[in-house]
Amino acid sequence: MILRRCGLIAPASRLAMTFSGILQDCAATLGTQALDVLLPRSCMLCGESVSASGAALCAGCYDCFVKITGPVCTRCGKAFTSPHGGNHLCGDCITRRVHFDCARSAGVYAGELRRAIRQFKFNRRSMLAAPLADFAAESCEAVGPKQGYAALVPVPLHPHRLCSRGYNQSLLLALRLSRQWEVKVERDYLRRITWTVSQTSLRRSQRRRAVRGAFTCRSRRYAGKRLLLIDDVFTSGATVDECARILKRFGAAAVDVLTVARTLKGQPEWQ
Ligand SMILES: [Zn+2]
Ligand SMILES: [Zn+2]
Repeated sequence: MILRRCGLIAPASRLAMTFSGILQDCAATLGTQALDVLLPRSCMLCGESVSASGAALCAGCYDCFVKITGPVCTRCGKAFTSPHGGNHLCGDCITRRVHFDCARSAGVYAGELRRAIRQFKFNRRSMLAAPLADFAAESCEAVGPKQGYAALVPVPLHPHRLCSRGYNQSLLLALRLSRQWEVKVERDYLRRITWTVSQTSLRRSQRRRAVRGAFTCRSRRYAGKRLLLIDDVFTSGATVDECARILKRFGAAAVDVLTVARTLKGQPEWQ
């Protein structure tokens, strides 16, 4: 594992890890333990055996996730550079109108957490939903079950992207949190109605324009209620802000946001 962290892992080992991941995903899909008998489970990041726990990640990789600790912006959750002082509004949230009420991200989008999210999102490692959702849940007090959410709302994918990816990563995170918190998931309430190009390389202003009008709601079922949006990465906040705008237009009284990770200042998600 140490060799892999230093980037020194052999290509053959990488191949074995990929093959192992495919089999594990197959096992999850088929709902069977049969493949585990043939091939012991291994950590989806480093390949270390996790057969005893059946987890998708080993404890060593999970412990490498860097948590965001205060002080943070009370609105958008951005971490301040100085470790001193309390939470307060950041300059962006003072000067710019945002529609969500409180956004929090569990960790910094870097290192092992970035690798795990990219495997989860772009490499069909759906089993990583469990450790990533658990990390989000244990790291975020401000947007937890005590807030009395009427429902968890995953940020939806356009049907075309859902077809190509095979699953909505935000829905898998929300389903895991739903079981822990006993709050229902609204998987179809918020819908993505326009196809937009991947935003990973766009600047913030471009992202805001790209997602404007991209979502709609099915009804005013949650008028006066508090909702929690779930997504994997908070980059510019443009997507979740547009989702929050629409949820409020359809009557939601408050919309908070929970993401697993947040990019560092000025860091596009693809880096
Ligand atoms: Zn590992
Ligand atoms: Zn802020």
